[in-house]
Amino acid sequence: MRVSWTDLGKQRADKADGKRVEITGFALGANSWGGQDRFLLMAEPGCCEGCVPNNPLAVVEVFARRPMKIASGALRLGGTWQVSFDADGWRYRLHDAEMVAGVTRRALLAASPLFCLPVPAMAQATDGMAVDLHSHAGNLIQMSFGRGSYSPVAEPMRQGGMSVVSLAVVSDSPIIKLTDGRLRPGRDPRPGELYSFSQRSFPALHVLAREQGLPIVRTAAELRAARASRPSVIVASEGADFLEGRIERLDEAYQRWALRHLQLTHYRPNELGDIQTEPSVHEGLTAFGAEVIRRCNALGIVVDVAHGTFELVKKAAAVTTRPLVLSHTSLITRPASWTRRILPDHAKAIAATGGVIGIWPVTAYFPNIVSYATDGFARMVDVVGIDHVGLGTDQLGLVGASAIPSYADLPQLAAALRTRFNAEETAKLLGGNFRRVFEASVG
Ligand SMILES: [Zn+2]
Ligand SMILES: [Zn+2]
Repeated sequence: MRVSWTDLGKQRADKADGKRVEITGFALGANSWGGQDRFLLMAEPGCCEGCVPNNPLAVVEVFARRPMKIASGALRLGGTWQVSFDADGWRYRLHDAEMVAGVTRRALLAASPLFCLPVPAMAQATDGMAVDLHSHAGNLIQMSFGRGSYSPVAEPMRQGGMSVVSLAVVSDSPIIKLTDGRLRPGRDPRPGELYSFSQRSFPALHVLAREQGLPIVRTAAELRAARASRPSVIVASEGADFLEGRIERLDEAYQRWALRHLQLTHYRPNELGDIQTEPSVHEGLTAFGAEVIRRCNALGIVVDVAHGTFELVKKAAAVTTRPLVLSHTSLITRPASWTRRILPDHAKAIAATGGVIGIWPVTAYFPNIVSYATDGFARMVDVVGIDHVGLGTDQLGLVGASAIPSYADLPQLAAALRTRFNAEETAKLLGGNFRRVFEASVG
């Protein structure tokens, strides 16, 4: 049967699910993806760059039986029609698609141009250069205790076009407990306990990288070279608790474990400063916290102030000579107690250092990938500008579900971002901004 664009969203198109259909339209982005075996089809040629595919009924996602030579102009395609009601994707797909010879003028007119929606490339919007600012992928948290087994990291990165993830051990893990829905310190650590835990968690990260063939990024040049075809990791620590107040352990972690990204605090008010989820005890950053920042600047370690209070961030901004990262959070407009989210001034303090804020895909705030892009990313961009926002998935570290559970979902996020941002802006959000901060920090 023939499906026309006016059928989409109506019973006729939905009832064709699983059937062989023909449809005529214009391919989008096929050239920029290179593959030409997966592309988007729409009613008319793209009219204005950056225009919005806000209507899933205006687009058909095409999976070709074999790569097609796609010239400009209308295409008549035959294939198996598939209807999906998954809110995060396109509603209609054409599988096993092949060109049907000859597009007649009548067929072209039947395609009835209804929408002016130049849909962005679904895949490869980042040219395989995306970076995740904060992740525990691969089941790293459990494996730091020797529990379970590693889950795939490299493969979903390749699939989704993710080049680098900042993979974090969790420094205060042994003493953190989920209490009344909040993560809190269950007890004080014993002397030496968190340092010796780091001597298990950092090796667990290195084993994961080795087993999955993920090179460890040590320099800005190595970051520049990283691509999704050969994904890499940055060694990070969520919390500097393993230092136990001893600055020489920072140098040791830099040398021995290739630590290049250090988050000062986590769920325990530690030797470095105060956190958002417990009462303040240090009025922000401690003298030791300032010393750690200066040493990170000198060695070449990215300083991350996620979980820190606004007071800590203001003091850190005054001390650091490099841009700050706040790797996983999102914007709120009114103060709230014990929240991990941040107010506009808190965000602006990060941007003022030239830094970057990673957006956290917590489904309680952003129920799906579209909301994550258009509420999470776009609202933060409204406050701090396009150069200061990034991706911080906290994969396998979230208490609840994630709006982007796998790196293989990255093309959907890119497509959702492209409804608000052009290609260059999207590339900044999905990695470019962090790359700039890493280069400035690590050299
Ligand atoms: Zn965290
Ligand atoms: Zn985390």
